Amino acid sequence: MPEESEIETIHAPLTGSNVSCTISPRFTCALGGALATVWGIVGAIPIVHSSAGCSRNLYMGQCFGSGWQTYGHARGLMTPSTSLVEKHVIFGGEGRLVQQMKASFEITDADVYFVLSGCQVALIGDDIRTIVDQFKERSDQTIIMVETPGFKGNSYVGYDMVGKALVEQLVEPPNKNEADKKELSVNLFGIVPAQDPFWQGNINELKRLMNRLGVSVRWSGDYDTVDTIKKSSNADLNIVLSEYVGVPTAELFKEKFGVPWIKYSLPIGSETSKFIRKVGKELGIDSKLVEFVIDSEEEQFLKQLDRIGHLYAGFNLQRDIGVIADSTYAIGLIKFLANDFGMNPTFVAVTDEPPIEIHDTIRKEILDLDYDLKPRIIIESDGNKIWTALEETRPNFLFAGSFDTKVAENLDIPRLSVSYPITDRVILSRGYAGYRGSITLIEDMVTILMKDMHLVINSTLVKHGYKKSTEQFAQVA
Ligand code: SF4
Repeated sequence: MPEESEIETIHAPLTGSNVSCTISPRFTCALGGALATVWGIVGAIPIVHSSAGCSRNLYMGQCFGSGWQTYGHARGLMTPSTSLVEKHVIFGGEGRLVQQMKASFEITDADVYFVLSGCQVALIGDDIRTIVDQFKERSDQTIIMVETPGFKGNSYVGYDMVGKALVEQLVEPPNKNEADKKELSVNLFGIVPAQDPFWQGNINELKRLMNRLGVSVRWSGDYDTVDTIKKSSNADLNIVLSEYVGVPTAELFKEKFGVPWIKYSLPIGSETSKFIRKVGKELGIDSKLVEFVIDSEEEQFLKQLDRIGHLYAGFNLQRDIGVIADSTYAIGLIKFLANDFGMNPTFVAVTDEPPIEIHDTIRKEILDLDYDLKPRIIIESDGNKIWTALEETRPNFLFAGSFDTKVAENLDIPRLSVSYPITDRVILSRGYAGYRGSITLIEDMVTILMKDMHLVINSTLVKHGYKKSTEQFAQVA
């Protein structure tokens, strides 16, 4: 165990000082969330109207922090940008935007362009709308304009800014002929690409489950085409997978096209059965089919849990767990780990700055467990405050992000990266949602515990004059 003085140095330089900013926030700005959302649309190219550095830094921050995910043609690091400098702040940047839009249309090929604006543009008051309207009149390009100054909010806010702009500017009214089709369909909102490092895996598991109910998924955030988004108003239901992210988009969608929406925080493990029942009820699906799907999924899920039973009991894998994650993950992870996997949650830090009016709902959701367990909950985005609370609580396994590596090491707490930013893992299709995702989560957690266990076993063997377990196996072979 480290000395107390060593632990203090983790954040001592800023603790108690007059610094009035958030240390190590676990999100980027609204423009970052907007960019990531656009990068998740097939054939979409963003044109960033902001100062030099915004799109590059946000690309590195938002995408590298989501398990090193990158994007291709005229996206990611190659995102077109007006790269404003001092003279534009003084004389205006409208000319520069016109120039950049013309150049982008000439040398790139997109199904839809998004003009996204940053802080400086909002401050100097460039008339972006008029410029975009003129381009729309003169060219046949599909252009969506979204004002996304970073000071208006974080990545989660940027996601809904793009969502609302799409509902306002791209989604078409329901097509009667298509609406007459027999197949039920839904849209999924609330999973923010890159901000949720497991966004693709999570969406794919939810799509798989919807398909099993005979429901197709239209607009989901996972590489939707422009055509899919355009026709998304033919959906029968919008499902928001967060307590608040995606709600503004779903509300506007309902107002414009009359599509109802429900809210259910990212389901993990057996919570997925409740989620499926809720969706089934809303869509009027035959309860026999709903229960058949749940039974068959739970059978597989329980089979996998059973397979780890001996390991769990034999090595006593139960831990006091801590979670540092956004509200969506905090709710989903705690419910799964406590209700299904027998862990004892002792500490939860909710990091996404949810609106104050839903703080009580988030606390209630986290505490709505099958057992009378009462973890300490803080709703806090400042790294210093989170780490101070973590030191006071000291769980013995931590689900967190890469920012928490040092503090976890100093406190000698094994840690799994599950929340943004994640730079110690590469994440592509991996997901933690649903039944299958929960088993992946167990594999990831137990792998870390068993590495520790191996070290203990080996050092005990060596201490008593035996060879290490691997050497013994080598000898037998
Ligand atoms: S906060 Fe403003 S200046 Fe900073 S990256 Fe975001 S848009 Fe650019």
